[in-house]
Amino acid sequence: MSSITMSFIIAVVIICVILLFRIRNYRAQWMDARTQLNAAEHKLKTEEGELQAIFTHGKQCFAIIALDGTILRVNQRFSELLGYPTSDLNSLNLLNALSHHEAANLRSQIERLIIGDRVEFETQLQCQKIDGESIWLSAVFTVIRDEASNADHIVMQAEHITQQKNTENKLRHLAYHDALTKLANRAKLEQFINQLIAGSSRRQQCFAVLFMDLDGFKNVNDTIGHDAGDLLLQVVAERLRNSVRSTDLVARLGGDEFVILITDVKLTDSVAIIAKKILENVSQGILIKNQQSFITTSIGISIYPFDAIDLNSLMKCADLALYKAKEDGKNNYQYYTQEMTSKAKVKLSIKTALNQALAKNEFHLVYLPEMDIKTGKIVSVEALLRWKNNEYKDIRPDEIIGLAEESGLIIPVSEWILKTACAQFQTWKQRGLAPDTISINCTARQFKQSTFIENVSYIVNEMQMNPKSLAIEITESMIMKDTEHMLRVLDELKSLGAQIVLDDFGTGYWSIGNLRKLSVDKIKIDKTFIQNIFKDDSSSDIISAIIAMVNKLGMISVGEGVETQAQFDYLASENCRLVQGYYLTRPISGEIMTEYLKEPRFAGIAESSLD
Ligand code: C2E
Ligand code: CA
Ligand code: CA
Repeated sequence: MSSITMSFIIAVVIICVILLFRIRNYRAQWMDARTQLNAAEHKLKTEEGELQAIFTHGKQCFAIIALDGTILRVNQRFSELLGYPTSDLNSLNLLNALSHHEAANLRSQIERLIIGDRVEFETQLQCQKIDGESIWLSAVFTVIRDEASNADHIVMQAEHITQQKNTENKLRHLAYHDALTKLANRAKLEQFINQLIAGSSRRQQCFAVLFMDLDGFKNVNDTIGHDAGDLLLQVVAERLRNSVRSTDLVARLGGDEFVILITDVKLTDSVAIIAKKILENVSQGILIKNQQSFITTSIGISIYPFDAIDLNSLMKCADLALYKAKEDGKNNYQYYTQEMTSKAKVKLSIKTALNQALAKNEFHLVYLPEMDIKTGKIVSVEALLRWKNNEYKDIRPDEIIGLAEESGLIIPVSEWILKTACAQFQTWKQRGLAPDTISINCTARQFKQSTFIENVSYIVNEMQMNPKSLAIEITESMIMKDTEHMLRVLDELKSLGAQIVLDDFGTGYWSIGNLRKLSVDKIKIDKTFIQNIFKDDSSSDIISAIIAMVNKLGMISVGEGVETQAQFDYLASENCRLVQGYYLTRPISGEIMTEYLKEPRFAGIAESSLD
């Protein structure tokens, strides 16, 4: 054998050995691959079984949907939920079953899934059941792709959330609505007004804020009871809603305060027409528990963007306008004006100064005598408050009292008045000059104070004064506002021994016939009647009637604001018991009054100096 042949044989043997090894290797690999394939197939089958089980028996709703929205397959749960047989649902287009808005949204989201812009999409859908009932689903959409990664179909997995949605809706309604009247509440009003501001500034539209407060609602509530008061609020709420368009918002802030937002105001004057309609509608009689009740409202109006451009400022402006509407006699409306803010600012600085007045010793009292017409004796002296302040010289005493009443300052100030006046009275007493009583004016807020009687009693005791020497002056309007409570406190004052004087009589609504219901000692006929005695017949007629009635009831009649001899003589001829006014003297200091008490006289005023 040649060496070439040998080499050839060796090469062939080597190749055969290599091939043999390769074949063994391939066989082993093939066997491995087969085992893996079997395992994968098994896994796939298990997973498919699991998926099938979830699809068929799971609690969730599943639907396989074609890319155009056509339902290809749904699971049992889905068909049960909607009440349709599975076969009816297949081939339906899901997009057709939704509202226009929902369908458009879903379509665009599916498009994003198809192009791979997003992996899944979650939303809430409202669907109709076979019986027409509307239900809510929370749905997740995912896309299934083929081997070439092209979108093949969509899987929708959904959960029934109607109950949760209803609870959410109820909670949202509660959070944004007033339970009693079902109107919007403050939170809703704020949300609405902020949206309106955002929208209006873009579209350059105006809107109006109408701030309302029922006139004398507390009184109505006290008279007809709280339950009936609630019914009345519900009727008023309904009337307000009926006075405006559905695009406007009516809200109740609490108590008897309402706000209406009039949207899209073209002419600010047109708001007045709506305000008039509201006044008219509210003032119609209301039949509650077979009883006819009447209520009116006052309205303050602010306009966006002319008066203010934010919620708080708009409300403040409307509130100031409301205050003016109340001041102007209620049952009317007022537009906000810049002047109201200036006035409010001045008022605030006066209140601040007033707050310091007690500590700075800026208050003092002046006194006005009451004379017995027949005997010429001074039987009482009324204490009147004065405030000495360099900056605020021209503020009238009744304005000071009003401001102190608003801020609550009236309580410490009144205590000071009572102490100072009682101390002055005791000084006169020690000198043998004291009249029968010292008269103190009181306000509603004092009467509301639970410790009022206790305080009065304490001060009178402290001063070692006979309570019979104290006369408390109240007005008709105080009684009208809170009759039951006032009568109770008056009774307690009487038991203490104090005298009660009804001041400014004739200006309120307490009829002469009602006088007998009050345990009052003195009636002061308001000075406007006295000053009109010779100007109009009705004043003199009213004076005659009041004096006759007061005398008949055994009370003491007082003519106040008497400035002339003629007025004095007229009252004397009508048998009025006492007079008070500039005809005797203007209000004078304690010191000058001491002299006056020694020698009472008539200052008199020349007729020509009167207006
Ligand atoms: P009022 O209680 O009716 O007091 C009588 C007012 O009429 C006083 O005004 C007095 O100066 C004025 N007056 C008396 N006679 C005449 C007259 O002949 N002609 C005219 N033109 N006026 C006369 P004043 O002091 O300005 O007080 C006004 C109101 O302010 C008082 O009316 C009272 O409601 C309130 N007020 C004054 N001082 C006090 C106080 O100490 N406490 C309380 N709660 N109110 C007070
Ligand atoms: Ca008085
Ligand atoms: Ca008076």
